[in-house]
Formats: sequence, structure tokens, C-alpha cells
Amino acid sequence: MKPEMIITNAKVLTMDEARPRAEAVAFGGGRIIAVGGRADVEALAGPGCRIVDAGGRTLLPGFVESHLHLVLGGNELTQLQLGGVSGFEELARFFRAYAAKNPELPLLMAQGAAYEILDHPVTRHDLDRVIADRPIAMMSPDHHTVWANSAALEAAGLLHGADMPAGHVVVMGEDGTATGELLEFEAFSPVLALTGDLHLQLGIATGGEPDPWPSAEQRAKDKEKVAAGLAHCAAHGITSMVNMDGNRYTCVLLKEMEAEGRLTARVKVPFHFKPHMDLSELDRASAMADEFQGEWVTSGFVKMFQDGVVDSRTAYMLHDYPGTTERGAPLFPPDRFNDICAEIDRRGLQIAVHAIGDGAVRQTIDGYEAARQRNGVRDSRHRIEHIELIDRADVPRLGALGITASLQPPHPPGAMDFPMSSMELVFHRHRWPDAFLTKTLADHGAPLAFASDWPVTDVSVMRGIQAALTRVPYEGAGDERVGLMEVLYAYTAGGAWAAHRDSLTGTLRAGLAADLVLVDGDIEAIPAEQMGRTGIALTIVGGRATHDPFGMAQGSA
Ligand SMILES: [Zn+2]
Repeated sequence: MKPEMIITNAKVLTMDEARPRAEAVAFGGGRIIAVGGRADVEALAGPGCRIVDAGGRTLLPGFVESHLHLVLGGNELTQLQLGGVSGFEELARFFRAYAAKNPELPLLMAQGAAYEILDHPVTRHDLDRVIADRPIAMMSPDHHTVWANSAALEAAGLLHGADMPAGHVVVMGEDGTATGELLEFEAFSPVLALTGDLHLQLGIATGGEPDPWPSAEQRAKDKEKVAAGLAHCAAHGITSMVNMDGNRYTCVLLKEMEAEGRLTARVKVPFHFKPHMDLSELDRASAMADEFQGEWVTSGFVKMFQDGVVDSRTAYMLHDYPGTTERGAPLFPPDRFNDICAEIDRRGLQIAVHAIGDGAVRQTIDGYEAARQRNGVRDSRHRIEHIELIDRADVPRLGALGITASLQPPHPPGAMDFPMSSMELVFHRHRWPDAFLTKTLADHGAPLAFASDWPVTDVSVMRGIQAALTRVPYEGAGDERVGLMEVLYAYTAGGAWAAHRDSLTGTLRAGLAADLVLVDGDIEAIPAEQMGRTGIALTIVGGRATHDPFGMAQGSA
């Protein structure tokens, strides 16, 4: 195979121990052909080979996003974006322009509305003055609050209040009607349902399949949303991703896009096992694993939620939350969870469990241990998502059992976009040293994979790198930063290993897929606090450019 393209004069960080640094990479036919010094690699160029001078920029394996929600994020990108919008006049102008452009939408939904977008707390009356005759709503950047106008509240059946589980609130005014402020998912999901694309939420909500199966016309609309999400990720250098909700429909959309030449990242999609399901439903997980095992769309793993989140005190803790007698509860009884893990593992599938509280983390480790006891040691690479609090006794168990810590550098309060308030409210001061551990887990042998959980936080890998490198220790806690190379490893090779994709991607070496990202600068020279403002100069997946703002991969050779 002759190279089709050579990227040279680069600082190549391969993430391959056998050859960590190089100057040039040649690739063709979707595969890496050579990694080495400039002279050696450039000598491989034949007629028609395009040579790209990287100008000393850093070339890395394409980023592996280890935990995101592609369909949900893509869907949001097609909605009105209110980031940076401030004041009534601007808000009204944005909404009215969006309304004029989208006369057919049953709900005008906006994202990224700052809590302080108006100079007072937003009410439905404010939004009625924006648009009164159509349902409109807007979501806060942290995805925990929605504000809706009267038409939306009426259509969703919330105007006169509704019974809600603890922590989910339809805020009521003194006049006995809803103010328009809706706190947490259960409270605002009736409004979101008005969009008419609730079938796209099934992967996270129920794990079920759309019924009736979406028509070709509906699938075309859905694929536009996925395409928006993929383009957004490509611009951030992402070439592989692990979707953390899913069903067969998600895989089918992605397979159709692959056939249409529109799939610009390798995507792994789980079967989502819910607490009410019978073990026999795992047949669907096995069927998905068998049906989707190409280089682009794969399944082969099962996602579960062991608990909720700290903000609503639904994360399952070993001790009561500060000032309360509650500690949350696991979503699965322990014995049953062990049986489920053993059964998934017996089927040769991987397990990924959302576990945030230290109680949830312990019960999840116990489940993986039970699976190992019953089925023996195999290359399972089970993983735990988030791990916001862990009991010290459990720290070495991850490494010992080979459990990946799938962590999100943007998530620790104070590290990126999340305020410190949840640390103050839900974590006892004396437990701060056990919260959001990274280095401690790595030092005890846990493999690391990094992610954003987009659209919960910004998908930008460069901002995530900055968050990982600049995080300030919590009062009384140790320094949980890891070094630049470990951060980069967790965003590339570590993520690929955790997704069972390391024989395909995640390192730069001959024979692997030509998945590369060119960072717009020398990553070892960029100050940590400027990392997040550093751009992506080129993203290549399977040898094809998916983000090329400078036209480096364009034109004739
Ligand atoms: Zn998630």
C-alpha cells in the first residue's frame, strides 16, 4: 500500500510505548502505513501522495470520547442556542427569529439559557411576552432547569402543578399556578415531550425501541440531528466515541449513515438494561452485539444506572447526606445486581455502570467481583462511569479487578463549568478528600478513560484537558491532577482500551486505523490555562478529513 497522505514536520505523540515520539505519519487505504522520522516517512511518498506540513503542531491519535450522548446532543444542536444571550430584548429577538424560521415545530426549544439571562428570576410571564401563541421553553446550561411559557405549561399539563418524585419540582406561584420554572428531569420531561421527538430519548429513558418503527422520512430527520452531533464532535478532534445510552434504533441510524458515507466517528452503543427488566431481555443485548460489530458501529456492552446524581440527592451514599437522614438508594438490589452482572459477563459482554455515590460504587464493584467469581477471569474490561465519591477501602479494588475508571474532567465542581455549590451542599467536608479522585485511582492501578458526558458538559476535549491539568485541590484533599501525557493517554489509548477498540485505534502505529488529530500548537508548550482555547487544525478518521478549517487536507497533491 502506497501512502495517500503524509503528515510531516509534526510533534507526533503516538501513545505507543514502543515508539512514543515521531515526526511524521503516512497513511493510505484508511490505515496507518508508517510512523517515524521525517526523512524516512517522506521517502515513502509516491506520485499522487499529498504531503501536509504540520508546521510543528502536535499530532495525536484521534480523541476517544469515552462517555457521551450523541443523539441527545445532536438533537440539542438543532435547537435554538442561547449561549451568551442576555437581556429581554436579545432573548425575544432570538426566539422570534427562530419561530419565524420554524413555523411547523410543536415546541420552540432553546438550549444554554443562563440562569441570570434576565435581571430577575425567569417566569412564564416573561416568556409569554417573548412569544405567547406558541409553546416555547429554554434549558439551563447544566440541564437541571427548564423555563416554559404558559402555552407550553398548558400543553404539557403542568400549568396547575403536578405530582413529582422527590427532587423534581414544578415551581408553584402564590396564585396557585406554575411559575414556569421546572427543576430536574421528571418536572420538565412533559414539556420536552412536546417536541415530538421523544423516540430519540428512548435509549436513555427506557432502553426500548420506537414503536411504530420510524419511517424513512422520520429516520432522515433523525439522521440530520446525529449528523449535527458528529460534525460538532469532529470539530473537537473526536474520532471514536462511546455512546452511554442506546437501543437497536440508535445502531440502525448509525449503520445507515455509514452506508451513506456520513458517519464521521466510530461509535459504540450499549444495550440499556433497566431495573424492571427480566434477565431474559439480555437476549436483546446479545443480538445487538452480534448484529453490530464492524469497525464503525459496534455494541457488545450493557449500560446500567446504579444511582442518580448528587444535586437531587439521588446518588446512593454509604452515609447520610449532610444535615439529613437520607443517603439515596441503589436502583438494583445487591443480590439481583450480582446475578445481572454474572449473566452479562457470562454472555461475553462488557458492563458499564453509572455509579456516583460511594454506596453505588461499592455495590458495582461487588457485582463485577461476583461475575468474576462465577465465570472466572476473562478480558472483560468492565467499567464504572463517574465515581464522584468512593470509600478509601474500595480504591484498590478497581485496579485489582481491572475495572476502568471512566471519569469526566469537566465534572468536579470548580474544575470547569460546574459551580462549587454542590460540594458545599452534598459532600461532607471530611469526605472532600475522597471526592472526584483521579490520580489516587490511577496510582492504585485503575485504568483511566476520560470523557465529557456531552451534552451534560461541553464536549471540547481541549477544555477537558485544561480542566484535568488545572484542577485545584479541594480543602483538605490531595492533588488529583495527573500529568499531560496521562491526560492525553486517557483521551486516546486509554479510552480505546476501555472500549475494546485498542487493536483498531487509540495509538499511532502502522496497521491501525488512520484516526488522527492535529492540535493547533505544540501541546507541550501551551500553558495549561490556555489549553481550552487551543483549536483543532485537522481531524482525520479512517484516512478521511472530517474537520479541516485550514484546508490542509484539501486540494491536489
Ligand atoms: Zn452520561
